[in-house]
Amino acid sequence: MNYQYWNSELETMPRPALEALQLNRLKEAVGWALRTSFYRERLGKAGIGSPDDIKSLADLRRIPYTTKQDLRDGFPYGFLSIPREEVVRLHASSGTTGVPTTIYFNRDDIKRWTDNVARCIYGTGCNSADVFQNMINYGLFTGGLGFHAGGEEVGMLVIPSGAGNTTRQFRLMQDFGTTVVHATPSFLLHVEARMREEGVSRESIKLRKAFAGAEPYSEDTRRRIEALLHIDVYNSYGLSEMNGPGVAFECQAKNGLHLWEDRYIGEIIDPDTLEPAPEGETGELVLTCLCREATPILRYRTRDLSSFYTGVCPCGRTHRRLRRITGRTDDMLIINGVNVFPSQIEEVVMSMKEVGNNYLIVVEKEGVLDRLTVKVEVGPDIFMDDTRPLNALRDKIRSTIQASITINPRVELHEGGSLPVSEGKAKRVIDNRPKDI
Ligand code: AMP
Ligand code: ZN
Repeated sequence: MNYQYWNSELETMPRPALEALQLNRLKEAVGWALRTSFYRERLGKAGIGSPDDIKSLADLRRIPYTTKQDLRDGFPYGFLSIPREEVVRLHASSGTTGVPTTIYFNRDDIKRWTDNVARCIYGTGCNSADVFQNMINYGLFTGGLGFHAGGEEVGMLVIPSGAGNTTRQFRLMQDFGTTVVHATPSFLLHVEARMREEGVSRESIKLRKAFAGAEPYSEDTRRRIEALLHIDVYNSYGLSEMNGPGVAFECQAKNGLHLWEDRYIGEIIDPDTLEPAPEGETGELVLTCLCREATPILRYRTRDLSSFYTGVCPCGRTHRRLRRITGRTDDMLIINGVNVFPSQIEEVVMSMKEVGNNYLIVVEKEGVLDRLTVKVEVGPDIFMDDTRPLNALRDKIRSTIQASITINPRVELHEGGSLPVSEGKAKRVIDNRPKDI
């Protein structure tokens, strides 16, 4: 394979040089952070009063963690480190887990962020010949404007279609010859199902690639989208606290997401002990942003669960790769005392050919016990009035989920296209249990 680099010097930089660059940039970021009263106090307590107190990358561990709660407590301007007049943009996290948090950018911050996203896009083999349809929410959410700017930087024709409007999405693809899209994986599956329903042939669109992110999805879901649409799907990871998209992205080897270590420092910790996780083991990802002056954030506890690959990537990039994010520490459901991650259920349902493109997890109280119901759409080859294959499929899903998570779920089969679809991040879990028990 012919791998293409947006900036070969930075992307293939030998580790010692990369780490020297990280150290310089960490000192710079600590300097930015020390302009806020929050970090002056936090870092001061840790004996860090100036960037020169950071002498090696090992000193990173002297910096206390920053949490989502810290950011909320600092709302709205507590983490702003430059005069308000120098800020050119703000974004906010989608607030899926509560009150949103705000991130500010100056002109240089936007340039660096745009360069990060361009690097990701270009690394998947895109160029100015591509037509890029950005099927994601434009607004406070970073995925819209972030990918838009990155796409333009690469020189692609960018169609700011935004999320939703499913029928209009594939009409735009047909009219303008879209070759690349960006969307949540759940929306991609929804678009594909709708195309089939409306009889839109694959030949009438020129799609080659998709960037899918903003929510967790399994390897089987990726393969399913790739097979249904005959495209390559690249995993895109980011979070607004670290600018948004462009934090970590798959290259053409599609085996792990390169974390751009010239712009971020990544650590994996044990979320209970807060100590570094053993090499290669799964834990909570902690990120330090080296590329945003207006809102510096150091050692941010993302709550996202991942681990680093240990080997080198065939693409030649030296930046370490993260494994697909399987979920968040706060995603975990406790069902009758058993810990369950929604991703474990997704892995089962999306691996079955007979299953359609959508599913939903519902947890309720039934007497004193918790009851797990998995609602699954069936694929187009299964007829809802033919009970025998339906019963067989229901049994197969039930027993495979039970084998994976030890809990025996109730499985409901639904017609394709009948379960709710969200325009933003998919809402996969409905927990109806009373909160006070
Ligand atoms: P936001 O700050 O609203 O953009 O949300 C960021 C969060 O979305 C991350 O912390 C992850 O939990 C989730 N997320 C984003 N991209 C991915 C991805 N590729 N895989 C899994 N989760 C993701
Ligand atoms: Zn690679």
